[in-house]
Amino acid sequence: MGPARTHWSDHAHRELSRAGHRAGGAREEVLSLLARQDCCLSAQEIHDKLRGRGRSVGLASVYRALEVLAQLKLVHRIDVDGTACFEPADPSGDHHHHAICDRCGKMDAFEDPELERLIDGVGERLGYVVGGHDIVLRGACPDCADR
Ligand SMILES: [Zn+2]
Ligand SMILES: [Zn+2]
Ligand SMILES: [Zn+2]
Repeated sequence: MGPARTHWSDHAHRELSRAGHRAGGAREEVLSLLARQDCCLSAQEIHDKLRGRGRSVGLASVYRALEVLAQLKLVHRIDVDGTACFEPADPSGDHHHHAICDRCGKMDAFEDPELERLIDGVGERLGYVVGGHDIVLRGACPDCADR
């Protein structure tokens, strides 16, 4: 993974200790796994991946760790087919959005500077200080739409 994610990991450690959370344990395992992800994972997927690496972290601990990371805005939470999924939230505000296929569950990530500009404009028009936004495209992916 590139320098951006090392940055995220350092940032996350700083924010956690500032909020009075001790390092180590399940949270550390979840954090180092997420730091190597390009896109989002559910708690169950994180649990399974840690298992696969011989880490014995309980699913409940994974949920608790994600809850803390989400509270500190260190991860983005995305609802994928009713399941909460999480990915690192870059401190610079850089982010991407997702398109999800209702039929096969495929997910694509996309970035669109024009879309971001439009959303900023809407926030200004409403007089809101916007801290974030959620955008998910749902439907049929190219493979499924063909059928
Ligand atoms: Zn993603
Ligand atoms: Zn599909
Ligand atoms: Zn955006």
